[in-house]
Amino acid sequence: MVLHVKGRVLAGPEDVRDELWAVDGRITYERPPGEALTLTGWALPGLVDAHCHVGLDQHGPVPDEVSEKQALTDREAGTLLIRDAGSPSDTRWIDDREDLPKIIRAGRHIARTRRYIRNYAHEIEPGDLVAYIAREARRGDGWVKLVGDWIDREVGDLTPCWPRGEVEAAIAEAHRLGARVTAHCFAEDSLRDLVEAGIDCIEHATGLTEDTIPLFAERGVAIVPTLVNIATFPHMADGGEAKFPQWAGHMRQLHARRYDTVRSAYDAGVPVFVGTDAGGSLAHGLVAAEVAELVKAGIPALDALSATTWGPAPGWAAPPWRRAPPPTWCSTTRTPERTSGSSRRPAVWCCAGGWWADLNWPLG
Ligand SMILES: [Zn+2]
Repeated sequence: MVLHVKGRVLAGPEDVRDELWAVDGRITYERPPGEALTLTGWALPGLVDAHCHVGLDQHGPVPDEVSEKQALTDREAGTLLIRDAGSPSDTRWIDDREDLPKIIRAGRHIARTRRYIRNYAHEIEPGDLVAYIAREARRGDGWVKLVGDWIDREVGDLTPCWPRGEVEAAIAEAHRLGARVTAHCFAEDSLRDLVEAGIDCIEHATGLTEDTIPLFAERGVAIVPTLVNIATFPHMADGGEAKFPQWAGHMRQLHARRYDTVRSAYDAGVPVFVGTDAGGSLAHGLVAAEVAELVKAGIPALDALSATTWGPAPGWAAPPWRRAPPPTWCSTTRTPERTSGSSRRPAVWCCAGGWWADLNWPLG
Protein backbone atom coordinates (compact mmCIF):
# COMPACT_ATOMS: atom_id res chain seq x y z
CA MET A 1 0.00 0.00 0.00
CA VAL A 2 1.03 3.60 -0.60
CA LEU A 3 2.09 5.54 2.50
CA HIS A 4 1.15 9.20 2.76
CA VAL A 5 2.86 11.45 5.33
CA LYS A 6 1.19 14.79 6.06
CA GLY A 7 2.65 17.48 8.26
CA ARG A 8 6.22 18.72 8.23
CA VAL A 9 8.41 17.00 5.69
CA LEU A 10 12.06 18.07 6.06
CA ALA A 11 13.39 17.57 2.55
CA GLY A 12 16.43 19.69 3.38
CA PRO A 13 17.53 22.03 6.14
CA GLU A 14 15.72 24.92 4.43
CA ASP A 15 13.21 22.85 2.46
CA VAL A 16 10.07 22.02 4.46
CA ARG A 17 7.15 20.51 2.54
CA ASP A 18 3.58 19.61 3.52
CA GLU A 19 3.38 16.00 2.41
CA LEU A 20 5.06 13.07 0.72
CA TRP A 21 4.13 9.63 -0.55
CA ALA A 22 6.13 6.41 -0.40
CA VAL A 23 5.47 4.12 -3.34
CA ASP A 24 7.43 0.85 -3.55
CA GLY A 25 10.14 2.24 -1.32
CA ARG A 26 10.52 5.47 -3.32
CA ILE A 27 9.60 8.93 -2.13
CA THR A 28 7.48 11.20 -4.31
CA TYR A 29 5.92 14.60 -3.74
CA GLU A 30 3.24 13.98 -6.41
CA ARG A 31 0.06 12.26 -5.24
CA PRO A 32 0.05 8.77 -6.79
CA PRO A 33 -3.17 7.06 -7.91
CA GLY A 34 -4.94 4.64 -5.58
CA GLU A 35 -5.53 4.38 -1.87
CA ALA A 36 -2.99 5.46 0.71
CA LEU A 37 -2.52 5.11 4.47
CA THR A 38 -2.05 8.58 5.92
CA LEU A 39 0.28 9.37 8.83
CA THR A 40 0.41 12.83 10.35
CA GLY A 41 3.74 14.00 11.72
CA TRP A 42 7.31 14.85 10.86
CA ALA A 43 9.31 13.16 8.14
CA LEU A 44 13.03 13.35 7.53
CA PRO A 45 15.58 11.45 5.48
CA GLY A 46 16.64 8.07 6.85
CA LEU A 47 19.40 8.69 9.38
CA VAL A 48 23.07 8.00 8.70
CA ASP A 49 25.15 6.34 11.42
CA ALA A 50 28.73 6.89 10.26
CA HIS A 51 30.28 4.62 12.90
CA CYS A 52 28.24 1.51 13.61
CA HIS A 53 29.65 -2.02 13.75
CA VAL A 54 27.20 -4.57 12.39
CA GLY A 55 28.57 -8.10 12.83
CA LEU A 56 30.53 -7.39 16.01
CA ASP A 57 29.97 -7.55 19.75
CA GLN A 58 32.29 -7.15 22.75
CA HIS A 59 33.88 -10.56 22.07
CA GLY A 60 34.40 -10.29 18.30
CA PRO A 61 32.48 -11.53 15.25
CA VAL A 62 28.86 -12.66 15.72
CA PRO A 63 26.58 -15.10 13.84
CA ASP A 64 24.37 -13.75 11.03
CA GLU A 65 21.21 -13.86 13.13
CA VAL A 66 22.82 -11.51 15.66
CA SER A 67 23.96 -9.17 12.87
CA GLU A 68 20.37 -9.18 11.58
CA LYS A 69 19.05 -8.19 15.01
CA GLN A 70 21.63 -5.39 15.23
CA ALA A 71 20.62 -4.05 11.81
CA LEU A 72 16.91 -4.24 12.71
CA THR A 73 17.55 -2.35 15.96
CA ASP A 74 19.34 0.36 13.99
CA ARG A 75 16.50 0.52 11.46
CA GLU A 76 13.95 0.86 14.22
CA ALA A 77 15.88 3.85 15.55
CA GLY A 78 15.62 5.47 12.10
CA THR A 79 19.10 4.55 10.78
CA LEU A 80 18.84 3.52 7.13
CA LEU A 81 22.47 4.04 6.10
CA ILE A 82 25.49 2.79 8.05
CA ARG A 83 29.23 3.15 7.60
CA ASP A 84 30.42 0.16 9.61
CA ALA A 85 33.86 1.55 10.65
CA GLY A 86 35.27 -1.98 10.68
CA SER A 87 33.78 -5.42 11.16
CA PRO A 88 35.37 -8.88 11.29
CA SER A 89 32.15 -10.50 9.98
CA ASP A 90 31.15 -10.90 6.36
CA THR A 91 27.88 -8.95 6.26
CA ARG A 92 27.59 -8.91 2.44
CA TRP A 93 24.35 -10.92 2.63
CA ILE A 94 22.67 -7.81 4.08
CA ASP A 95 23.00 -6.17 0.63
CA ASP A 96 20.26 -8.52 -0.61
CA ARG A 97 17.87 -7.53 2.17
CA GLU A 98 15.84 -4.52 1.12
CA ASP A 99 14.26 -4.25 4.57
CA LEU A 100 17.59 -3.62 6.35
CA PRO A 101 19.79 -0.49 6.44
CA LYS A 102 22.35 -0.17 3.65
CA ILE A 103 25.90 -0.75 4.87
CA ILE A 104 29.05 0.95 3.57
CA ARG A 105 31.85 -1.31 4.79
CA ALA A 106 35.36 -0.44 5.94
CA GLY A 107 36.70 -4.00 5.86
CA ARG A 108 38.22 -5.34 9.05
CA HIS A 109 39.98 -3.04 11.53
CA ILE A 110 43.77 -2.87 11.08
CA ALA A 111 45.63 -2.57 14.40
CA ARG A 112 49.12 -2.94 15.80
CA THR A 113 49.95 -6.32 17.38
CA ARG A 114 48.32 -6.71 20.83
CA ARG A 115 47.14 -3.12 20.78
CA TYR A 116 43.40 -3.35 20.31
CA ILE A 117 40.37 -5.22 21.63
CA ARG A 118 40.88 -8.98 21.18
CA ASN A 119 39.32 -10.71 18.13
CA TYR A 120 38.45 -7.44 16.37
CA ALA A 121 41.34 -6.52 14.12
CA HIS A 122 44.08 -7.76 11.86
CA GLU A 123 46.92 -7.24 14.33
CA ILE A 124 50.07 -6.50 12.34
CA GLU A 125 53.42 -4.72 12.38
CA PRO A 126 54.14 -1.54 10.35
CA GLY A 127 56.02 -3.41 7.59
CA ASP A 128 52.75 -5.16 6.62
CA LEU A 129 50.55 -2.08 6.74
CA VAL A 130 50.49 -1.30 3.01
CA ALA A 131 49.60 -4.89 2.11
CA TYR A 132 46.78 -5.08 4.67
CA ILE A 133 45.36 -1.71 3.74
CA ALA A 134 45.24 -2.78 0.09
CA ARG A 135 43.52 -6.03 1.05
CA GLU A 136 40.84 -4.31 3.17
CA ALA A 137 40.37 -1.53 0.57
CA ARG A 138 39.45 -4.24 -1.93
CA ARG A 139 37.07 -5.93 0.54
CA GLY A 140 35.28 -2.79 1.70
CA ASP A 141 32.92 -0.31 0.08
CA GLY A 142 35.26 2.65 -0.17
CA TRP A 143 36.63 2.94 3.36
CA VAL A 144 39.46 1.39 5.37
CA LYS A 145 39.71 1.55 9.17
CA LEU A 146 42.95 1.92 11.10
CA VAL A 147 43.48 1.92 14.84
CA GLY A 148 45.57 5.08 15.11
CA ASP A 149 46.39 5.00 18.82
CA TRP A 150 45.88 2.66 21.77
CA ILE A 151 47.39 2.02 25.16
CA ASP A 152 51.06 1.01 25.06
CA ARG A 153 51.38 -1.15 28.16
CA GLU A 154 55.10 -0.47 28.47
CA VAL A 155 54.56 3.28 28.46
CA GLY A 156 51.33 3.04 30.49
CA ASP A 157 49.50 5.56 28.29
CA LEU A 158 47.98 6.05 24.85
CA THR A 159 50.62 6.33 22.11
CA PRO A 160 50.47 6.40 18.27
CA CYS A 161 50.44 2.95 16.64
CA TRP A 162 52.17 3.68 13.31
CA PRO A 163 55.36 5.41 12.17
CA ARG A 164 54.77 8.34 9.82
CA GLY A 165 56.45 6.78 6.76
CA GLU A 166 54.40 3.58 6.80
CA VAL A 167 51.12 5.37 7.39
CA GLU A 168 51.85 7.75 4.50
CA ALA A 169 52.52 4.85 2.14
CA ALA A 170 49.42 3.01 3.35
CA ILE A 171 47.06 5.97 2.92
CA ALA A 172 48.50 6.63 -0.56
CA GLU A 173 47.86 2.99 -1.46
CA ALA A 174 44.24 3.16 -0.23
CA HIS A 175 43.66 6.31 -2.26
CA ARG A 176 45.21 4.70 -5.34
CA LEU A 177 42.63 1.91 -4.93
CA GLY A 178 39.79 4.43 -4.60
CA ALA A 179 39.24 3.99 -0.87
CA ARG A 180 39.24 6.57 1.92
CA VAL A 181 40.89 5.98 5.26
CA THR A 182 39.64 6.66 8.76
CA ALA A 183 41.34 5.99 12.09
CA HIS A 184 40.37 5.43 15.69
CA CYS A 185 42.20 8.11 17.73
CA PHE A 186 41.61 8.98 21.38
CA ALA A 187 44.78 10.93 22.17
CA GLU A 188 46.56 14.02 20.86
CA ASP A 189 49.79 12.58 19.46
CA SER A 190 48.74 10.57 16.40
CA LEU A 191 46.57 13.28 14.82
CA ARG A 192 49.09 15.53 13.09
CA ASP A 193 50.91 12.64 11.38
CA LEU A 194 47.68 11.06 10.17
CA VAL A 195 46.28 14.29 8.77
CA GLU A 196 49.55 15.29 7.12
CA ALA A 197 49.72 11.78 5.67
CA GLY A 198 46.38 12.50 3.96
CA ILE A 199 43.79 10.70 6.10
CA ASP A 200 40.14 11.44 5.27
CA CYS A 201 38.39 11.11 8.63
CA ILE A 202 39.11 10.54 12.33
CA GLU A 203 36.89 8.58 14.73
CA HIS A 204 36.39 9.89 18.31
CA ALA A 205 39.03 12.65 17.87
CA THR A 206 38.96 13.44 21.61
CA GLY A 207 42.61 14.53 21.41
CA LEU A 208 41.99 17.51 19.10
CA THR A 209 43.62 20.69 20.39
CA GLU A 210 43.98 24.26 19.20
CA ASP A 211 47.13 23.07 17.39
CA THR A 212 45.47 20.36 15.33
CA ILE A 213 41.95 21.75 14.81
CA PRO A 214 43.09 24.31 12.17
CA LEU A 215 44.89 21.51 10.31
CA PHE A 216 41.68 19.43 10.17
CA ALA A 217 39.67 22.47 9.07
CA GLU A 218 42.16 23.43 6.36
CA ARG A 219 42.25 19.93 4.89
CA GLY A 220 38.54 19.19 5.36
CA VAL A 221 39.24 16.09 7.46
CA ALA A 222 35.94 15.03 9.05
CA ILE A 223 35.44 13.80 12.59
CA VAL A 224 32.89 11.34 13.99
CA PRO A 225 33.00 12.06 17.74
CA THR A 226 30.83 9.14 18.99
CA LEU A 227 30.04 11.06 22.21
CA VAL A 228 27.78 8.24 23.46
CA ASN A 229 30.95 6.14 23.53
CA ILE A 230 33.17 8.86 25.03
CA ALA A 231 30.66 8.93 27.91
CA THR A 232 32.08 5.53 28.98
CA PHE A 233 35.67 6.85 29.43
CA PRO A 234 35.38 7.42 33.22
CA HIS A 235 34.15 3.85 33.67
CA MET A 236 37.06 2.53 31.54
CA ALA A 237 39.48 4.68 33.53
CA ASP A 238 38.20 3.26 36.83
CA GLY A 239 38.78 -0.27 35.50
CA GLY A 240 42.39 0.43 34.45
CA GLU A 241 43.38 2.77 37.28
CA ALA A 242 45.33 0.23 39.36
CA LYS A 243 47.55 -0.97 36.52
CA PHE A 244 47.76 2.13 34.31
CA PRO A 245 47.17 5.28 36.41
CA GLN A 246 48.66 7.63 33.80
CA TRP A 247 46.40 6.24 31.08
CA ALA A 248 43.38 6.48 33.41
CA GLY A 249 44.11 10.14 34.14
CA HIS A 250 44.52 10.86 30.44
CA MET A 251 41.18 9.23 29.61
CA ARG A 252 39.40 11.25 32.32
CA GLN A 253 40.93 14.45 31.02
CA LEU A 254 39.88 13.71 27.41
CA HIS A 255 36.38 12.96 28.70
CA ALA A 256 36.18 16.13 30.78
CA ARG A 257 36.87 18.38 27.77
CA ARG A 258 34.88 16.38 25.20
CA TYR A 259 32.11 18.92 24.59
CA ASP A 260 34.59 21.80 24.29
CA THR A 261 36.67 19.75 21.85
CA VAL A 262 33.71 18.98 19.57
CA ARG A 263 32.38 22.52 19.76
CA SER A 264 35.79 24.03 18.92
CA ALA A 265 36.16 21.72 15.93
CA TYR A 266 32.66 22.60 14.72
CA ASP A 267 33.33 26.33 15.18
CA ALA A 268 36.53 26.04 13.14
CA GLY A 269 34.62 24.44 10.25
CA VAL A 270 35.66 20.81 10.73
CA PRO A 271 32.92 18.55 9.26
CA VAL A 272 31.27 16.68 12.16
CA PHE A 273 29.14 13.57 11.55
CA VAL A 274 26.95 11.37 13.71
CA GLY A 275 28.29 7.95 14.71
CA THR A 276 27.28 5.79 17.67
CA ASP A 277 30.06 3.17 17.80
CA ALA A 278 27.35 0.55 18.33
CA GLY A 279 28.44 -3.05 18.27
CA GLY A 280 31.45 -3.16 20.56
CA SER A 281 30.28 -2.63 24.09
CA LEU A 282 27.62 -0.13 23.03
CA ALA A 283 24.02 -0.96 22.14
CA HIS A 284 22.60 -0.45 18.66
CA GLY A 285 19.90 2.16 18.07
CA LEU A 286 21.53 5.14 19.85
CA VAL A 287 21.56 7.47 16.85
CA ALA A 288 19.12 10.02 18.32
CA ALA A 289 21.04 9.99 21.62
CA GLU A 290 24.21 10.91 19.70
CA VAL A 291 22.42 13.80 17.96
CA ALA A 292 21.30 14.99 21.41
CA GLU A 293 24.91 14.77 22.64
CA LEU A 294 26.12 16.95 19.75
CA VAL A 295 23.47 19.52 20.71
CA LYS A 296 24.68 19.32 24.32
CA ALA A 297 28.21 20.01 23.03
CA GLY A 298 26.89 23.26 21.58
CA ILE A 299 26.18 22.38 17.94
CA PRO A 300 22.93 24.05 16.82
CA ALA A 301 20.02 21.55 16.62
CA LEU A 302 19.55 21.87 12.86
CA ASP A 303 23.26 21.26 12.21
CA ALA A 304 23.26 18.30 14.60
CA LEU A 305 20.31 16.86 12.67
CA SER A 306 22.10 17.64 9.43
CA ALA A 307 25.11 15.62 10.68
CA THR A 308 22.97 12.48 10.41
CA THR A 309 20.79 13.41 7.40
CA TRP A 310 21.64 15.91 4.65
CA GLY A 311 25.22 16.40 5.82
CA PRO A 312 26.84 13.03 5.08
CA ALA A 313 24.73 12.18 2.05
CA PRO A 314 25.66 14.61 -0.73
CA GLY A 315 29.16 15.90 -0.07
CA TRP A 316 31.74 14.22 2.08
CA ALA A 317 30.14 10.83 1.82
CA ALA A 318 29.06 10.88 -1.81
CA PRO A 319 31.52 8.55 -3.52
CA PRO A 320 31.90 6.05 -0.67
CA TRP A 321 28.16 5.95 -0.04
CA ARG A 322 27.60 5.33 -3.73
CA ARG A 323 25.88 2.01 -3.23
CA ALA A 324 23.16 3.64 -1.20
CA PRO A 325 19.73 3.88 -2.81
CA PRO A 326 18.01 7.21 -3.45
CA PRO A 327 16.51 8.94 -0.42
CA THR A 328 15.13 6.69 2.23
CA TRP A 329 13.05 8.20 4.94
CA CYS A 330 11.89 7.79 8.46
CA SER A 331 8.99 9.58 10.03
CA THR A 332 7.95 10.44 13.53
CA THR A 333 4.89 12.02 15.08
CA ARG A 334 7.06 14.25 17.28
CA THR A 335 9.18 17.29 16.58
CA PRO A 336 12.65 15.85 15.88
CA GLU A 337 14.50 18.33 18.09
CA ARG A 338 12.13 17.87 21.01
CA THR A 339 11.97 14.13 21.23
CA SER A 340 13.55 12.19 24.06
CA GLY A 341 13.92 8.61 25.24
CA SER A 342 11.95 5.95 23.41
CA SER A 343 9.71 8.57 21.81
CA ARG A 344 12.67 9.37 19.55
CA ARG A 345 11.96 6.20 17.65
CA PRO A 346 10.29 6.85 14.32
CA ALA A 347 6.86 5.39 13.62
CA VAL A 348 7.52 4.47 10.01
CA TRP A 349 10.57 3.59 7.91
CA CYS A 350 10.77 3.62 4.18
CA CYS A 351 13.62 1.60 2.62
CA ALA A 352 14.26 0.45 -0.92
CA GLY A 353 12.03 -2.55 -0.31
CA GLY A 354 8.95 -0.67 0.87
CA TRP A 355 7.91 0.80 4.18
CA TRP A 356 7.40 -0.51 7.70
CA ALA A 357 5.28 0.89 10.49
CA ASP A 358 5.68 0.58 14.23
CA LEU A 359 2.11 -0.34 15.13
CA ASN A 360 2.49 0.99 18.66
CA TRP A 361 2.38 4.44 17.16
CA PRO A 362 -0.90 6.20 16.49
CA LEU A 363 -1.25 6.31 12.72
CA GLY A 364 -3.73 8.46 10.82
ZN1 LIG B 1 34.19 1.64 16.66
